Amino acid sequence: MNVLGIEGTAWNLSIAVVNENEVITVAQEAYIPKEGGIHPREASQHHAEKMPSLIKAIFDRFPKEKIDAIAFSQGPGLGPCLRVTATASRLLALKLKKPLIGVNHCLAHVEVGRWKTNAKNPVALYVSGGNSQVIARRGNRYRVFGETLDIGIGNAIDKLARSFGLQHPGGPKIEKLAEGGRRYYPLPYVVKGMDFSFSGMVTAAQKLKESARIEDIAFSFQETAFAMLTEVTERALAYLGYDEVLLVGGVGVNKRLQKMLGDMCEDRGAKLYYPPSELMGDNGAMIAYTGLLMLKHGYTTPIEESFVKPNFRIEEVEIRW
Ligand code: AMP
Ligand code: MG
Repeated sequence: MNVLGIEGTAWNLSIAVVNENEVITVAQEAYIPKEGGIHPREASQHHAEKMPSLIKAIFDRFPKEKIDAIAFSQGPGLGPCLRVTATASRLLALKLKKPLIGVNHCLAHVEVGRWKTNAKNPVALYVSGGNSQVIARRGNRYRVFGETLDIGIGNAIDKLARSFGLQHPGGPKIEKLAEGGRRYYPLPYVVKGMDFSFSGMVTAAQKLKESARIEDIAFSFQETAFAMLTEVTERALAYLGYDEVLLVGGVGVNKRLQKMLGDMCEDRGAKLYYPPSELMGDNGAMIAYTGLLMLKHGYTTPIEESFVKPNFRIEEVEIRW
């Protein structure tokens, strides 16, 4: 089976075709804001503008007759962006007379990670721009064991980077700066039960600008935020008695976060997994692959039920595999 998937919840418009074994082809265009953070309307206009050429690029490389279904990210995400993706996906499904499959974006991050790493039953740390969650499967649902109470870790890092005058996305730049950090400045370490919060940390880090080197601020920010995430992931492992951690989402490419989680896993006799970096951040292949899994297990989404779900939660999806 070959499934075409479209991801367009936020910054990346990405279309891919996958089969059960591999990613066959990908066409994508990232929206990079000229200034500030992601502007939902501008991002959606970007997606609408690029959609036709990306679809054409895919069909130039892969025969449309061989596509068995169209999968799309139905949510969570930015409303205007989701609507562009859903509209294009409905049109493709109707035109090719193939089933449509609405995919939960968070589930797709986890499933593509399991696919590419062979992790069986992990505690997943999903860290991206808008989302930050500790997720694990219990019975036929994924459950969120802990999550951010305010902004996602990626957004927090991007905000900090913007206040240093760095262009979006800030993650890679903050990581680079942090490598030059020598001094640790304490920042609010906010873990409440199994949840965490980042916005207070951003404000506190921004205030340090008058007195500290930006390398030290970036370093202190990463150490504090990643320790919070590692603590909650460890607690979920201990509670569930699982021995695998799966790191997914765009922030997951960060080497310092990988190291901290890796050390924690080693101390507990657990194993850390993460997929190749092109499958970490938002991408069409994860949507196509999860669509393929869903199709194999009898899921399709009638057009009338293909409305976008900006607040779609992973727990809402029954897992039949
Ligand atoms: P996603 O929403 O999953 O595509 O992830 C996007 C987020 O990942 C953005 O907030 C980026 O700043 C962040 N990101 C990308 N690379 C890195 C990195 N090396 N370190 C930390 N965050 C990163
Ligand atoms: Mg994401």
